[in-house]
Amino acid sequence: MEKGVPFLDLSAQYHILRDELDAAIREVLQSGQFILGRQVSAMEEEFASYLAAAHAVGVASGTDALLLALVALGTRPGDEVITSAFSFIAVPEVLSYLGAVPVFVDIHPETYTLDAKLLEASLTPRTRGIVPVHLFGHPADMDPIMAFARRNGLWVVEDCAQAAGATYRGRKVGTIGDVGCFSFFPTKNLGAFGDGGMVVTSNEELAGRVRLLRNHGATDEHQHGIIGYNSRLDELQAAILRVKLKRLDEWIMARRRLAGRYASLLEGQPVGLPIEASYGRHAYNQYTVRLQERDGCRQALRALGVATKVYYYLALPSQPSLGGLGCRVGDFRESVRAAREVLSLPIYPEMRSDQVEAVCKGLAAALKACSRAD
Ligand SMILES: *Cc1c(COP(=O)(O)O)cnc(C)c1O
Repeated sequence: MEKGVPFLDLSAQYHILRDELDAAIREVLQSGQFILGRQVSAMEEEFASYLAAAHAVGVASGTDALLLALVALGTRPGDEVITSAFSFIAVPEVLSYLGAVPVFVDIHPETYTLDAKLLEASLTPRTRGIVPVHLFGHPADMDPIMAFARRNGLWVVEDCAQAAGATYRGRKVGTIGDVGCFSFFPTKNLGAFGDGGMVVTSNEELAGRVRLLRNHGATDEHQHGIIGYNSRLDELQAAILRVKLKRLDEWIMARRRLAGRYASLLEGQPVGLPIEASYGRHAYNQYTVRLQERDGCRQALRALGVATKVYYYLALPSQPSLGGLGCRVGDFRESVRAAREVLSLPIYPEMRSDQVEAVCKGLAAALKACSRAD
């Protein structure tokens, strides 16, 4: 291949929206207001309205969105929170900050999201809530999760970091549970030029508590009513995100078109393709396939100039930092299998269809090379 295909091109959106982004950035610089000003409030309003949510509170990252949501919900040491065994580290990480215990549940093998059938077996008198993750942009099956939570007096926090704009039975993810947590890390579907996040809820009291928590617990100019954090979305990122939010749906459509192209080009290959459950709309933050000889294929693809990533190489219970949390690796068959088989192929809205073709051609060659090596 002449040029190769990058996994992602984060400068492409800047080049397309350069004039508008430059103007938005200049406006913030000239305003002299960099923290909690009018850009953040406007982004909060616009994001809430995009999702059809009542309240949105900008915070410093997706990880902080989860942390502040869990603190606002009153999470205490010893509390148990059920979450997916196959995901990014952020959920168990913030739980451990609070002395709370992640209770991992295996995933559904086709959607890579928490398997609701397994919730019952994870329930104990210490269970307080559930954090389903809409992994890769595919919505988790929220109806059975919400029904189980309501039956057992648990709260639900949706980890929407990879799924801004995905829907579940016609509703945007993040508006179904008690709280939705979003990340604006540059590689997410709505990416800032740095870190950022958002907490979304229909509960006014919870939203108010997150607002206090993100700003040192300051109840007014002089008083700090509760112990809080320094975790604010900043004005520059908010201004940038407001420009980009207007394009989010168009970008998701582009991702979906590319996913469709991949699916038709990879048909007949020994590759497990991502599915879209009938209950929702996939936002394709990642286009993740399964391969029997994943590591060998990945290497062969790299030699052909095609960049890929492995999300995630380990099921969470196998992560060294979480080893002390009493998890039993053998219990997470699908998560462990996914960790061995998944490979994320390049996908981003500005990707061209000839690049998708190049990836698929490379993958076909890599698969041949791998099977010869057997
Ligand atoms: C990215 C991500 C986060 C954390 O978001 P940051 O903004 O990077 O802190 C949390 N959960 C999942 C599933 C993610 O992909």
